[in-house]
Amino acid sequence: MITVYLGEIPEEGLEISGETSRDIFQLDPADEEVQPAGPVRYDLHISDAGSDLLLAQGKLVAPFTLRCVACLEPFPFTLELDHYAADFDTPASGKLDMTERIREDLLLEIPGYPHCDRDGDDPDRVCPAAGKFDGTDSQENRGNSAWDALDGLKDAES
Ligand SMILES: [Zn+2]
Repeated sequence: MITVYLGEIPEEGLEISGETSRDIFQLDPADEEVQPAGPVRYDLHISDAGSDLLLAQGKLVAPFTLRCVACLEPFPFTLELDHYAADFDTPASGKLDMTERIREDLLLEIPGYPHCDRDGDDPDRVCPAAGKFDGTDSQENRGNSAWDALDGLKDAES
């Protein structure tokens, strides 16, 4: 839970940082496309934006396991939002719970068609499915037969 009490926010704003103690995403465990892989870390500045709005700005880091759309293998993906910003209605209860909004905003930032080599945490990762279906083999065969035909012409000239 990422919460703050209004009474704790001084005029200059409040810094809160930490990590969620439980899974805030509650995704279907059978979903192989995306699963959370650890707590969400947050480092936020909460301030009164006037007009009954509170502003949260800062950094969010959330680790996930995604499934590559090309090779279908799971791979680690860390979502880092360095310039996160969201505003919230000042709650009448005096307690602001940002968990649901942050959950939604993080899920929106996950790539829709993730590739393990392009999006994953490992920059050296080569997707085992890369280049598998680009037709290289048939082009090579055509090339060979063209050379064979040239050889045949040379034989005929000599
Ligand atoms: Zn892949």
